[in-house]
Parts: sequence; structure tokens; C-alpha cells
Amino acid sequence: MDISIIVPLYNEEESLPELYAWIQRVMSANNFTYEVIFVNDGSTDRSWQVIEELQKASEHVKGIKFRRNYGKSPALYCGFEKAQGDVVITMDADLQDSPDEIPELYRMITEDGYDLVSGWKQKRYDPLSKTIPTKLFNATARAVSGIHNLHDFNCGLKAYRRDVVKNIEVYGEMHRYIPYLAKNAGFNRIGEKVVHHQARKYGKTKFGLNRFVNGYLDLLTLWFLSTFGVKPMHIFGFLGSIMFMLGFIAVIIVGADKLYDMYHGNPYRLITESPYFYLALTTMILGTQLFLAGFIGELIARNSVERNKYQIEKEI
Ligand code: UDP
Ligand code: MG
Repeated sequence: MDISIIVPLYNEEESLPELYAWIQRVMSANNFTYEVIFVNDGSTDRSWQVIEELQKASEHVKGIKFRRNYGKSPALYCGFEKAQGDVVITMDADLQDSPDEIPELYRMITEDGYDLVSGWKQKRYDPLSKTIPTKLFNATARAVSGIHNLHDFNCGLKAYRRDVVKNIEVYGEMHRYIPYLAKNAGFNRIGEKVVHHQARKYGKTKFGLNRFVNGYLDLLTLWFLSTFGVKPMHIFGFLGSIMFMLGFIAVIIVGADKLYDMYHGNPYRLITESPYFYLALTTMILGTQLFLAGFIGELIARNSVERNKYQIEKEI
């Protein structure tokens, strides 16, 4: 099979028939063999009935129905599990992404050798309250992930080589960072294609402005996991040791200072009356705790099922 199209959706009943008809038009014009996997993320409207009707009328339609709303990432994860096509395309259900882009995306994966091609909504039809924070978001994501050629991490329209989706695990709200996940898994031929974008025709957006706060925290998590996830001691142990040493040296200085004054008959005060003593003590305690955090982190990492999971590309 050439193409699997995965469409995560939550309450998009009006858009689905139109979207599917459009996909069908593009697919048969290009003679692709394909499947469309609709992942119904616990919709409370008629979306699932619509999918069932589409499925009755066409053999290309597959569906997954969640019992409740889990979010876009879990929906993509289950779609990825089920996908069989050589190239896997994800797109939003709200008709903001255009199926007309699919043939070119397919070509970029199969002929240009990309592992992943992300859409770039260069000209967006979204409110300003969304486009401005998005610019900031993408700049941060580029800097942290080191994928400098992507302008639009969160574009719903993306194409993947099948290997990619079978070897990454999207969870939580990590769908915003799939290129970063792919890069961490060793798929670094990541490309971009300018895509047409439309204003939402039916229904309303499912993500509020808190997407930017959560998105930022998720980015920190990913960065931390990919940098120190398997070796937490390297950061916590390092910081802890340094802090402990600083505190220890400071205590020695405070003590030596008092002895010096005593010896020379200068006026002196109790060590416990010096504010430096308390600063030094706190530093030592914090240092010990950081060190312990690192050590406990290492113990957890030792037990992780992921600890020996590697991306082996080939064996002969
Ligand atoms: N979506 C989903 N589960 C959710 C929220 C959204 O499957 O919990 C789907 C939604 O139906 C749409 C896609 O994810 O197909 C993108 O959502 P939306 O268009 O609301 O996001 P925006 O375009 O505003 O970024
Ligand atoms: Mg949308």
C-alpha cells in the first residue's frame, strides 16, 4: 500500500464527508493505493456515525473509536500503530489542511529521500492571538531541538516514512514535537514543504491559549529527557558536588577566620552568629539533595524498560 492517511478528530462531524470526498478525488487522480484511518478521539457529536457511513460506502476507510477524549497525541499514536502504507500522512480533520498537498509530500519521501516532511503554513488564516505566539513557539522549538530548517513544528499536515512512525512513541501532548522525537530516534533527514492553509470552516478550535504554556513545558521535558534522561547523575551529580564543595570551603573559611581572630587577640564572634555560616550550610544541604536526586534518578533509569532500546537500522 502506498499511503496511509491518519486523521485525528474530535467533534468534526460537518467536515468529515467533505474531507473524505476530497481525499478520494486526489488519491484516484494519482492512482495511489491507500487507506484513511479516522481516529475518533471520544467525540460527543455524530462523528463516529459519519465514519461508519463512510466505511460502508468505501473499502479505504478504517476507523478507531476512543471511549473518551484522550487528546491528539494518543489519537496519532493509535493511528501510527495501525498504519500499513509505505508513506504515512497525518492531517487535521477540520479542512484547514489540503489533501492536494499529498502527492508532492509522497514524492518528497519516496524520491527525495526524506524521513519526515512537515507542512509549513506560511500564510496562515488564524487569528493574530494565535499566529504571534506561534512564531515565538517555533523559534524556541528550533533552538532547543536543533532542527533549524523547520518553521512550523505543530503543522497537522506531515508525511513520514513508515519506519519513522513505527519507531517513535508520541504520548501526552508531544504531537507538537514529532520532528524532535524523530530526530532523537536518529531520523535526521527532515524536510519542509510550504502548504496551503484555510480558515476553519466548521466547528471551532479544540486547543486554547494554554497550548503555549503546556507546549513550552513539554519542550523542556523533551530537551531534558533527551539530554539527561539516561544519565541524570551527569547533571544532578555535577551540580550537587559543586554546591557541596562551595559550601564546604565556605564553612572552612568561616571557621579559619574565627581561629585567626582568636589567635591574634582580635574581637571575634561565635561561628553561628555569622550569616555566612548559614549560607554555607544551606549550600551544603542543597548540594547533598541534588546529588541524591541524581543518584535516585540513576536507580530509576537502571530499571527503565527503555534503558536498552536502540534504533538499529540494519544488521547483516
Ligand atoms: N483533535 C483531537 N483530539 C483533541 C483535540 C483535537 O483529535 O483532543 C483534533 C481535531 O479534531 C483536529 C486536530 O486535532 O482534527 C487539530 O485540532 P484543531 O483544528 O482544533 O487545532 P488548531 O487547528 O486550532 O491548531
Ligand atoms: Mg485546525
